[in-house]
Amino acid sequence: MNINIPNKIKVGGLDYDIILKNRIEEDGVSDMGTQYTPIQKMWIDNTYHKQQQEETFLHKIIEAINDSYELNLEHHKICTLSNLLYQVIKQLK
Ligand SMILES: [Zn+2]
Repeated sequence: MNINIPNKIKVGGLDYDIILKNRIEEDGVSDMGTQYTPIQKMWIDNTYHKQQQEETFLHKIIEAINDSYELNLEHHKICTLSNLLYQVIKQLK
């Protein structure tokens, strides 16, 4: 299943804007993605392979959930969840 990254997504009742851009050129940042809950925005670097953009999108959603619900998940757990969820979702037809 392909994940079409939308312009907006609701996570835990909050509407997040999703901005796809060349982060190194436009922001001087080499992160594949960043999300910032206080202003409800996610930025994803669109120069990476589509699969990495999709996985980063899932990762940012889990980070937003982690922030909103104060789950206190350590970053390596967020990485594990996003990687494995991505693998499962991609197998769905
Ligand atoms: Zn992260």
